[in-house]
Amino acid sequence: MTISQTIAQQRSAGKAADFDAIIIGGGISGMFMLYRLRELGMTARVFETGTDIGGTWYWNRYPGARFDSESWTYGYSFSKELMQEWDWKEHFSPQPDTLEYLNHVADKFDLRRDMQFRSTVKSAHWDEATTTWTVALESGEQARSRFLITAVGILSAYTLPAIEGRDSFRGPTYHPARWPHTPVDFTGKRVGVIGTGATAIQAIPEIAKQAKQVTVFQRRPNWAAPLHNAKISKAEMEEIKSRYDEIYAHCRQTSSWFIHQTDPRKALDVSPEEREAFWEKLYAEPGFGIWIGNFSDVLSDERANALMSEFVARKIRQRVKDPAVAEKLIPKDHGFGTRRVPLESGYFEAYNRDNVHLVDVINDETIERITPNGVKTTRKEHEFDILVTATGFDGVTGAFDRIDLRGPGGTSLKDIWKAGQPRTYLGMLADGFPNMLMVLGPHTARGNIPHAIEHCVNFHAGLLSFMKDKNYTRVETRPEQVAEWTEAVIKASEGLLASEIDSWQTGVNRNVEGRLERRVLGYNGNGAHFRKRTDDTARGGYRELRFR
Ligand code: NAP
Repeated sequence: MTISQTIAQQRSAGKAADFDAIIIGGGISGMFMLYRLRELGMTARVFETGTDIGGTWYWNRYPGARFDSESWTYGYSFSKELMQEWDWKEHFSPQPDTLEYLNHVADKFDLRRDMQFRSTVKSAHWDEATTTWTVALESGEQARSRFLITAVGILSAYTLPAIEGRDSFRGPTYHPARWPHTPVDFTGKRVGVIGTGATAIQAIPEIAKQAKQVTVFQRRPNWAAPLHNAKISKAEMEEIKSRYDEIYAHCRQTSSWFIHQTDPRKALDVSPEEREAFWEKLYAEPGFGIWIGNFSDVLSDERANALMSEFVARKIRQRVKDPAVAEKLIPKDHGFGTRRVPLESGYFEAYNRDNVHLVDVINDETIERITPNGVKTTRKEHEFDILVTATGFDGVTGAFDRIDLRGPGGTSLKDIWKAGQPRTYLGMLADGFPNMLMVLGPHTARGNIPHAIEHCVNFHAGLLSFMKDKNYTRVETRPEQVAEWTEAVIKASEGLLASEIDSWQTGVNRNVEGRLERRVLGYNGNGAHFRKRTDDTARGGYRELRFR
């Protein structure tokens, strides 16, 4: 149903044409928020750009797209029945299976009836007189609500490469975050791939299996480690189901809400033999253990990090046959784990294939422009049939920036955040924006994303329920609490090697104007402490917030 139809229906029923809440985004966050709002008896409308539910898993249909978290820690945990009836097929679920899971959730809880697709929110303006948000879609339709919930995702504002002639290529160009719904046939095609982030690292081995030739344009290499995915047997899934309570309770207590937990030992305190044996073990194990289950000093001490980086560099040299190519694939400007580690399935071996060619666009030949035929570098014009721009996202704040969000007095969120650090309370509410509740806002704890989403949504549901009980209609942050939280977030990022590296996590994106300065975009402290802090706020009656 469109907004106009809803409004017409409500008018004929003699009701105001408003919703209690408008949710921007129909991914994992928006779907769960809708479920919780219904439980509270609130009317809600989700506006979603896509033609269906799923968010990240709706858009990112590129070959090789799959989880980097264990599937059985990725699902929603709010319904035991849902957990028990869903069988994950692989330890790290591929995109089609994940989307199937989310469809199952949407069907089971009849979520679509409050969701409007093909509906991109263009602006949301606060009206102090009525204490409401007015939301306008790109189509020109408008709706009002008391609460605005941003469920826009941290990696949804995809960015195209700022390369001259970008739109001049005559063949198809695909960004992985806007991949076609019908699979792309690479058979017999010459394919150019720009970018070597987590997305490209998943896609390149798969494209290479089909294409006649793949040329990868690499600006900076990334450290990557094996995913070690495997199928889940029926018996194994039953065993996992029997331990769900234990698994989820464990995740809630770890620092990033994954099953992996930092090893208390320090790399520099143990013998070289013990160190090497531990790293061999981690390299052979599935998932993020090698990143977040590593020695406690690897991500904070440069000497420990250098040893770890050298270990992974050795692995790359062992896996890539041509030593010159191997050297190009080894990062020299940042240490292992200082950017979110892409988990790969045969990425390095892809460069052993005759049809895959690596172009180092920093040291060997620079990209001059994109042409109708392909990519022109300082050495030659590389000709392609298909171009893939796996050039990433304007992380965390990018999706907010794409909406004209205005608080009291017409203050623009984009302008405020542009001027410096985002200012929030717990990453849940933005300073100066009443009744705007953020799911995965900047300065919140993230780690294992669905766990972070569930925690955010539950916090907001608790807050809304509290307001309902007290008959409050307006909530906003308190300046002193925002100042304290912003300082805590900045402090938590200090001493981490990742804070000294350019990445989407530190807010740097050379394809976006004004995105060259590093910022702190997430709470990098312990997730279990964050959980306690937010739970304490709720238990204490939200005294850190101001109500009317
Ligand atoms: P990304 O890590 O930011 O990588 C973008 C790549 O494009 C980088 O190699 C970048 O080079 C390159 N690039 C950008 N603009 C360029 C230009 N103008 N010319 C040449 N190269 C250019 O983005 P991503 O790969 O999409 O991954 C982003 C995040 O998404 C990941 O960190 C991860 O959190 C998430 N992700 C998760 C999964 C999963 O397994 N669940 C899969 C994919 C992605 P520079 O490094 O030099 O900037």
